[in-house]
Amino acid sequence: MRHVAIIGSGPAGFYSAEALQKLYGENVRVDLIDRLPVPYGLIRSGVAPDHQSIKAVSKRYEKTALSPNLRFLGHVSVGEDVSIEELKQLYDAIILATGAPHDRPLDIPGSTLPGVVGSAAFVGWYNGHPDFADLDPPLGVASAAVIGNGNVALDVARILSKTRAEFAGSDIAGHALDVLDHSAIRIVHVLGRRGPHQIAMTPKELGELGHLEAAAPRVDLEDFPPEVDDALLEPGMRKSVTHLRSFAALPQDKAKTIDFDFFAAPVRVEGEGKVERLVVERTRLDDQLRSVGTGETYAIECGLVVTCIGYQTPPIEGVPYEHGRGRFANAEGVIGDGLYAVGWARRGPTGTIGTNRPDGFEVADTIAAACPPGSSGGKAGGEGLDALLAGRGVRPVAFSDWQRIEAAETARARAGSPREKFASIADMIAALGR
Ligand code: NAP
Repeated sequence: MRHVAIIGSGPAGFYSAEALQKLYGENVRVDLIDRLPVPYGLIRSGVAPDHQSIKAVSKRYEKTALSPNLRFLGHVSVGEDVSIEELKQLYDAIILATGAPHDRPLDIPGSTLPGVVGSAAFVGWYNGHPDFADLDPPLGVASAAVIGNGNVALDVARILSKTRAEFAGSDIAGHALDVLDHSAIRIVHVLGRRGPHQIAMTPKELGELGHLEAAAPRVDLEDFPPEVDDALLEPGMRKSVTHLRSFAALPQDKAKTIDFDFFAAPVRVEGEGKVERLVVERTRLDDQLRSVGTGETYAIECGLVVTCIGYQTPPIEGVPYEHGRGRFANAEGVIGDGLYAVGWARRGPTGTIGTNRPDGFEVADTIAAACPPGSSGGKAGGEGLDALLAGRGVRPVAFSDWQRIEAAETARARAGSPREKFASIADMIAALGR
């Protein structure tokens, strides 16, 4: 029997568990440990609440969780309740699937002013993540700036622009829905430091912006290269750029505008005690397609700045870390000494949910090469962890407990909504009657 601990129950964690089950069959016991009492990581707290079809993948993870050789241990914090060193004593392999839940900082003057928030915080807030339930972003302002040209910037711009009715069927956190419903924001500036051909947005997500009830996207065709150049783009990118171009023909007759500012790099945030404006510098592309400042600046009046410029993995004591790339130092998923990384903790914050799947299969193969199926390492595994946690007064949340939390969230949902998430750990635990 082999024992594997996976830290983090998001997509990368679940795909790794599934791969280990397929490879080892009955010869493995997997413990999936999460800091929160609830599973699914980015599916629950990162994927936009109005993208329920993407969130449906959790049904597949549930199937994995319900198999007899896997346990979910929620509300157990590695680094606090148990150390990596202790886990190494207990398990044959430890897989870090901790994702990249921290914002990459926007290192410009004024970026710590109230009203500048990172996308991890903002997305966590509207998704009911306990760490960000109290964010209280300033939405009583006329204008917001969203920095970045990736899909997260699109998510944020869309959530800031939707009407209450458009959130029907979503699982947006109630506290966020109420505040967004009374938002005074009429213009959302989406800032890219490069041009329309350098966006990191995908066609489906861009296309959605053209069909919002009370908001219209706006672009300036002056920012675009000649249309014939679109033919040189790969098909997905070409489709995205076609959507962008089509926005130029849309009537600007809606209450809100999503304004795409290309070639605009943030320089500093200004304001008396809070954000009042963002100063940006016009850029151009160099021959390597990098953005280069032109020296010309202008100010965007705004009371909210959301930075959507990527994420990083928080370091764990004793685990080698690559600071420049914000992820664990690893060679093809191997950190060393029985320690592995998958998903964004391995690769950095790129790719879709499905991109994590091959990582899971690769790590399972690598572990199987070191610990062949059928062999034993003589480790104590889950029984040893249970004893250690019990001795520390830590009571993990099992998958069956999570199912009770989920049932309680479903029972208190708004009409038409799949659930009303508990946005504090205390409320999650209280739902268990503890
Ligand atoms: P991303 O795709 O890497 O985009 C980050 C954006 O931030 C880029 O446009 C980048 O510009 C810009 N940026 C970085 N540093 C900057 C700076 N200092 N100043 C100005 N702009 C800066 O990251 P993301 O949007 O956070 O998304 C993360 C991953 O999740 C992506 O793979 C994304 O596709 C995925 N995702 C998918 C969905 C979906 O499928 N519906 C939804 C959300 C997220 P440069 O290109 O110039 O560096």
